[in-house]
Amino acid sequence: MNPYWLEEEAPPRAQPRHAGRVDVAIVGAGVTGCSAALRLAEAGRTVRVHDARGVAEGASGRNGGFALRGGASRYDVARDTYGVEAARGLWNWTERALDRMTELGGDAIRRPGSFRLAADEEEREQIHLEYEAMREDGMDAEWVDDLPGRLAGAFDGGILHAGDGALQPARFVRRLAVRAAEAGAEIREHDPVEDVDALEADAVIVATDGYGHGLVAELADAIWPTRGQVIVSEPLDELLYDRPHYARQGFDYWQQLPDGRVLLGGFRDVSIMDELTDVEETTPVIQQSLEEFLGELIGRAPRVTHRWAGIFGLTQDMLPLVGRVPGRERVWVAGGYSGHGNVLGFACGELVADAILGETAPQLALFDPARFS
Ligand SMILES: Cc1cc2nc3c(=O)[nH]c(=O)nc-3n(C[C@H](O)[C@H](O)[C@H](O)COP(=O)(O)OP(=O)(O)OC[C@H]3O[C@@H](n4cnc5c(N)ncnc54)[C@H](O)[C@@H]3O)c2cc1C
Repeated sequence: MNPYWLEEEAPPRAQPRHAGRVDVAIVGAGVTGCSAALRLAEAGRTVRVHDARGVAEGASGRNGGFALRGGASRYDVARDTYGVEAARGLWNWTERALDRMTELGGDAIRRPGSFRLAADEEEREQIHLEYEAMREDGMDAEWVDDLPGRLAGAFDGGILHAGDGALQPARFVRRLAVRAAEAGAEIREHDPVEDVDALEADAVIVATDGYGHGLVAELADAIWPTRGQVIVSEPLDELLYDRPHYARQGFDYWQQLPDGRVLLGGFRDVSIMDELTDVEETTPVIQQSLEEFLGELIGRAPRVTHRWAGIFGLTQDMLPLVGRVPGRERVWVAGGYSGHGNVLGFACGELVADAILGETAPQLALFDPARFS
């Protein structure tokens, strides 16, 4: 397994150290933990981040690199479920987070927009409902029937979300870590936490998303570890896809990278129960499905140079958990992004940090961990 994004060398980082007890200890140095660390350190709090691996070596360096606004469910479904104010508020909040990520990320983020595609007539009807709901609620979204290039004929229309982004996610998160360290956060890599109660801190944030299942018993039934698998082709000479694309409810997602490679992930539904696991390994059945579809996307079978698996945290209602863990005075959580954590993770890292700093926000009610208790 060789996650393409993590091959790039990590930038040098300041190494501040705090003696003894800190204000906040964070478990997990992915996008959530680094975003929270930056926010808290900038607010003058002493922060110590612990990760069993290196920065971004969990899902934050193993994902598809899609930086999409919104939640993990379709906008129209979100609106029906939590009401127009909450759904629109959530979408707008993530749009603002994407803008901040763009300011912070330099060349780790591009904003080419994304294409949500209909694989068949049924999906076309479903995503057209999403498009209509977004337009009714004043959001930008463009319906496209005449799909460009190789998409024509293969898909039945789609929504262009012009503000969405494409990340080099490991580069982005490592840069966040550089900034957090500059602001004074101590980041301890290769430092697994066995017991959150033993951490010397006034508050603890569990920012492990799909990893670390069981570390906090109260979260074990709320965030389910789920595996995703990805492949990357050799560089192609021609540009076939100029933005992130996804279809079949997000079960298939692909983008062509700046060096010409095509990254493809998904097909979890081929063996969906087997993928409810935290075992970080690829499987022949899903790898084969990915390779076949990659051949269709490109028009020939390319050489696959990278393949890997990663684990993300799924929740029952597809909304994250952000806030104090029920029944635990000093333990907070931000995670459970249901495969949609690049922007949500960044935003929820800030949200949990702000909550610890005493600020409230409407998202805290929507993401309240107590809703599953
Ligand atoms: C294959 C795949 C594709 C995806 N594609 C996309 C996408 O295109 N767009 C999108 O928005 N989202 C995507 N996601 C989801 C997204 O990657 C995650 O939601 C997001 O990265 C979560 O970030 P995080 O910081 O919360 O957790 P992670 O990045 O997973 O970090 C958690 C960290 O916690 C550490 N940890 C766990 N337990 C302990 C412990 N006991 N002690 C110390 N450290 C511990 C781990 O080592 C890990 O580094 C994808 C996920 C996968 C797996």
